[in-house]
Amino acid sequence: MSVYIDPAVAGHLRGFEMPERLGFGTVMAPVMFRAVCQDGCWSGGELVPYAPLALDPAAKVLHYAQSCFEGMKAYRTLGGGVSLFRPERNAARMAHSAERLCMPAVPESLFMEGVRTITAYCANLVPASSGESLYLRPFLIGTQPDLAVSASTSYEFYVIASPSAAYHAGHMRLWVEREDSRAAVGGTGDAKVGGNYAASLLSISRLKARGYDQSLWLNPGNRHTVDELSGMNFFAVMEGELHTPRLNGSILEGITRDSLIQLADALGYTVHERDIDIDDLLALVKSGTCSEAFACGTAAIVSPVSLLGDGEQQYELAQVPGPVAEHLRQSLLDIQEGRAEDRFGWMEAVEPVTT
Ligand SMILES: *Cc1c(COP(=O)(O)O)cnc(C)c1O
Repeated sequence: MSVYIDPAVAGHLRGFEMPERLGFGTVMAPVMFRAVCQDGCWSGGELVPYAPLALDPAAKVLHYAQSCFEGMKAYRTLGGGVSLFRPERNAARMAHSAERLCMPAVPESLFMEGVRTITAYCANLVPASSGESLYLRPFLIGTQPDLAVSASTSYEFYVIASPSAAYHAGHMRLWVEREDSRAAVGGTGDAKVGGNYAASLLSISRLKARGYDQSLWLNPGNRHTVDELSGMNFFAVMEGELHTPRLNGSILEGITRDSLIQLADALGYTVHERDIDIDDLLALVKSGTCSEAFACGTAAIVSPVSLLGDGEQQYELAQVPGPVAEHLRQSLLDIQEGRAEDRFGWMEAVEPVTT
């Protein structure tokens, strides 16, 4: 398979000016990768100028939410190169999400071609300060114009890219969400789908009004063990050991979560993947046994939690940011930005293409 490069791409890249302030996911690279799937058959990939999509108003994605996505980063590494972090894990997770929504998986080779091509052509747009990155957003949508409730026969796969500043979500105040659920038992909690985010927004808007930043979601089946945040996984530190909810079908399997577990283990920490009862956790925070907590995900990497709110009660974490969170964040970022040896083989260098 070889990628078709639209002749207008070079001009769009040359005409692009990097704004002074980047923000996170706000500035879009002037090109995008796309491929289409008709009746199970994938076209070749194309790199084309960034532009609005033409979608039929009856396209299934707009009505029945056949849509899944990924979030990943290209990092500027020591010495000036550009590397992707564990991209094949994103390819595999997107295939899993697609399967859950009865969509055809984007073949791993096509997914990799998409993220490599846009990164190669946008290599100059990967910002260089520590914490900054080119954020990549691959997504897949069902486009068949037909209001019948059935899986679409046509799909489009895109990768867009956003040169981004460091994502600061530090000192998060979490609200223990005891009413709503973001995902259902047997539902789509372990798939990266927009619908899960839509289901989380009302909770977030309610808690923002009360001075909190994020919901801490409980398991939708038992309503008393901790699952995760809306877009990040959760860790607690108790007497120097790490505790994180075990994968239970309603938690999204974060690649940062998995990387931190491997890294923590290699750094000599004990990591427990287990059910964490929310009332036990709150009591341990209160007694000081749980001294730190943090959330993790591609965007923010590791963000410390300062407070857990449950109804009228507030439970403050003793160490914000705690030493364990700081150690893990720095160790992971050192690998991603090429300052530390890539002992796990997580980084994949991309050769820049100049136009
Ligand atoms: C994307 C996501 C995460 C974090 O996954 P990473 O691969 O670490 O970025 C965690 N929870 C949810 C619900 C997510 O959508």
